[in-house]
Amino acid sequence: MENCVKIVVENPTPRHDYIFSLIFNQLLGISYCYVSSNNEAHINYTSVSLRGIQCVPHGLLAEKNIRLSIIDEVTFDLWLETPCFFRTGDTSLPFDLFSAAFFLVSRYEEWLPYEADIHNRFPATASLLHKNKLLEEPIVNQWALALKDTLLYEYPTLIFNPRRFEYLNTLDIDQAWKFKEKGAVRNILGSLSDVVHGRQENIFARWPIIMGLKQDPFFEVFDWHNSVCSELNIATIFFILVGDYGKFDKNIPHDNLHFIKLIQHLQKNAQIGIHPSYRSNSNSTALPTEIQRLKSITNTPIHLSRQHFLMHNMPQTYSNLLAHGIQEDYTMGYSTHLGFRAGIAAPFFWYDLENNKATGLKIVPFCAMDITPLYYRKETPQEAKKTLRNLLTKTAEVGGHFVSLWHNESLSETERWRGWRCVYNDMLKAVNEIYNQTIR
Ligand SMILES: [Zn+2]
Repeated sequence: MENCVKIVVENPTPRHDYIFSLIFNQLLGISYCYVSSNNEAHINYTSVSLRGIQCVPHGLLAEKNIRLSIIDEVTFDLWLETPCFFRTGDTSLPFDLFSAAFFLVSRYEEWLPYEADIHNRFPATASLLHKNKLLEEPIVNQWALALKDTLLYEYPTLIFNPRRFEYLNTLDIDQAWKFKEKGAVRNILGSLSDVVHGRQENIFARWPIIMGLKQDPFFEVFDWHNSVCSELNIATIFFILVGDYGKFDKNIPHDNLHFIKLIQHLQKNAQIGIHPSYRSNSNSTALPTEIQRLKSITNTPIHLSRQHFLMHNMPQTYSNLLAHGIQEDYTMGYSTHLGFRAGIAAPFFWYDLENNKATGLKIVPFCAMDITPLYYRKETPQEAKKTLRNLLTKTAEVGGHFVSLWHNESLSETERWRGWRCVYNDMLKAVNEIYNQTIR
């Protein structure tokens, strides 16, 4: 018998195709197909009582437009022990989890008006998952697994091959060097600023480093990082800022020969992606220029991207990235909060709600950024280790994708980052423990 989840849907739309493909093909490792109401179906996704497990549709997947009033329909409740919304009936699938998953993964609420933060971004505090204390739950993965159990209970011959835990290490390079390679003007101004702000550590460290008497702490990280990742066999993506200097864009000039050499060196053991500058959000020529710079340095096409400052607006940012050849974006996440911005611990394709169609842009969400435990949660390194381990465990329980976001700066053991390398080490150790527990 064909191993395929058979679904009755009155009129399948691009939204149905999109969410069924995500839940069945990508999360549960089983194909799905549409059947007519006369056939034996596993899932009856209609409001009429038929054979199969009935899930009464909320209606969202049949719509074509973006609707403001939908926000009022999102009320969280429990399905078994799992929080869920869009309750539609009293069947064994009492919630329309397909519409709920679509709502979260399409980031529907980010297409609606919201009060932006100082960088004009959608703030975590505006999100429904945050308001319902669910940001740290990979809820879409949990729904998919609960759906699998419900199906298996009724149809034990179905064979699922659900996704397994996976870890991805990513580093943003906002400043490859702390002092060196920044030039005399920046360092003289930097020295004055150190004195004005009483940054004693920098006052003493800066000039010996510039004179070559000591290693630059941001740059020194790369060799150490490479040896750690090689030892643990961990793959890395570096997202590199090559934009022009500006208030929020402070990397080394893109034509600095040492910077070029560093990028070419990093590319030997890792993937390289673009880190579009802050400026690129308001200057239309910046993104293609920066991609071209990185392409010339690496001599390879640039398909991976993460926005500097996580600058993102729906749909402009993704449309712009797509228009310039980016195939995967790694911006989905928050700096202020840990967890799963889209409710999912797995990559998915961006759904363009305005044009009501799936796109070829793969969104790879991250769930843990270095600054979050240190600055926003005010945690000590010891507390941060525990927090990250908890999040890893939660992700592993659903076979999720755990993407971490660090900077070479946060691994430099300088200023506020003193004592944080061990947090990173512990996170990698925990990843290794999970890999060893699961059969790969
Ligand atoms: Zn950045």
